[in-house]
Amino acid sequence: MSLLGLFNFLRRSLQRAEATLTDIAGFDRNFAPALAVHGPCVLPQSVQDGNPAPSFLDSIFWMAAPKKRRTIEINRTRRRAPEKLIKVKTNIEPCLECGHPKQKHTLCGYCYAKVRRETGEIRKQIFAMEGKPLNTPAMETVILYDGETPGEGDKDKRVVERPRKRPSWFILS
Ligand SMILES: [Zn+2]
Repeated sequence: MSLLGLFNFLRRSLQRAEATLTDIAGFDRNFAPALAVHGPCVLPQSVQDGNPAPSFLDSIFWMAAPKKRRTIEINRTRRRAPEKLIKVKTNIEPCLECGHPKQKHTLCGYCYAKVRRETGEIRKQIFAMEGKPLNTPAMETVILYDGETPGEGDKDKRVVERPRKRPSWFILS
């Protein structure tokens, strides 16, 4: 007897027993015995109860991975392709102030550092004179270098005297 035949036989027996029990004792159908078969899953299953437990492999984020190692020659050919090499710059010119090479249409880094250093010294001097940093200047400042004297219009301005020769780029306006 095949498994399906056995199943049908059991179902028919159960239906008969159910009918007999209902006739004799007046059993409610809800409490009637039900058929449960423990065996291999060869019978067609409905789609609604198809909710399998999540597998361990489902929790992994799979990414594409190379299947074969690429040789060093192929890798170097790719890495040293002409479009990946650094371009030769043709927009370099000497700075008009100091002569250091710089890119066109950009500030000279050497001159910028020089101005920045001198400005930092002036700010430090103002901090030492007034006991606070120069955050919001409330008055104008005059920078006097060696051998310079305050002019007529410098009466009520802050005077900072620098003990050095006036730099060539710090032009008196
Ligand atoms: Zn320069």
